[in-house]
Amino acid sequence: MKTRKLLAFLLVATALFSSSCTSNNEKQAPKSPKNVIVMIGDGMGPTQVYSLLLTSNEKTAFERFPFSGFSITKSASNEITDSAAGGTAIAVGKKTTNKMVGMTPDSIAVPSMLEIFADQGKKTGVVVTCSVTHATPADFIAHNINRNNNEEIALEIANKEKLDVLFGGGKKYFTERKDSVDLIGKMWENGWNVYDSLEQIEDNNARTMVVACRKHMVKAPERGDFLPKATAKALEMLDNENGFFLMVEGSQIDFACHDNDSATLVEEMRDFNNTLNVVLDFAEKDGNTLVVVTADHETGGLTIVDPEGKYTRTDFKWTTGSHSAVFVPIFSYGPGAENFSGIMDNTEIMKKIMEITK
Ligand code: MG
Ligand code: ZN
Repeated sequence: MKTRKLLAFLLVATALFSSSCTSNNEKQAPKSPKNVIVMIGDGMGPTQVYSLLLTSNEKTAFERFPFSGFSITKSASNEITDSAAGGTAIAVGKKTTNKMVGMTPDSIAVPSMLEIFADQGKKTGVVVTCSVTHATPADFIAHNINRNNNEEIALEIANKEKLDVLFGGGKKYFTERKDSVDLIGKMWENGWNVYDSLEQIEDNNARTMVVACRKHMVKAPERGDFLPKATAKALEMLDNENGFFLMVEGSQIDFACHDNDSATLVEEMRDFNNTLNVVLDFAEKDGNTLVVVTADHETGGLTIVDPEGKYTRTDFKWTTGSHSAVFVPIFSYGPGAENFSGIMDNTEIMKKIMEITK
């Protein structure tokens, strides 16, 4: 009798266990977003984000994200990464040597997630406030052994078969070149529309580059609302039934931090925050867009202290004019966003995005 009861219990328990396993597996099956937006605050460590919270009266965009985590940023060559290697890890999912763009340390070009998505038939775009040839955008759209080869990177962009939208600065690398080639003229011949301002865009379906200045754009707030506006325009142009990939960079958070300029840092964080709100509003409405926000590294070794050590007031304290080794935050929203909580290597971000969208 006892044995039979035990046997019955075991049978029921096994059935329950296996059925709960099946339903669990179904629940955990990765949801696949149609659109992916990666946003990079260059130099944006945890304190840079907190500097915005500390100086904002309203709820920040960062507080709208349901999931957050941390990314370890060291490069293949250094405990402290530069933007080229940090962005390469995010874009292609592999560590590289500082200064290298979209390549492994042995100079082998590796396709970025933007390039993989483009090959899958998605529209792709990049929006920045620096030169479009600068390290972070270049990590997604080019492959070069040295980030400083701006003219080579511009040539690679001009010859790119699959890229739909590119907004930022850096016109001089297309028009004032050592080889005297007018790359913008060539791009028009190859089917691109190229303009100096967003307002000139007439055809949302044409491949479009806007290079709004010779090199980097001016800093915030003198720059106005270029970044949120350019991002809204890119979303309008990229949204289509096959989906899209967009990378948006708050490029000059890093510049303010190299200068140890607290007031400009807060302005750059506000500009990035406004842009995050544009993206989150789109993603909320769309319901099928994964948004992942992170940084390539922290800049300035920023902390917030009471200089008298009395816990009564707060002051920004910078500990370097260069980058630091601390880990950086990740924020995520949308289908698959739960995969980006916890501590991960910067190379995991691309791998997880590719896994979720498989
Ligand atoms: Mg950058
Ligand atoms: Zn930097």
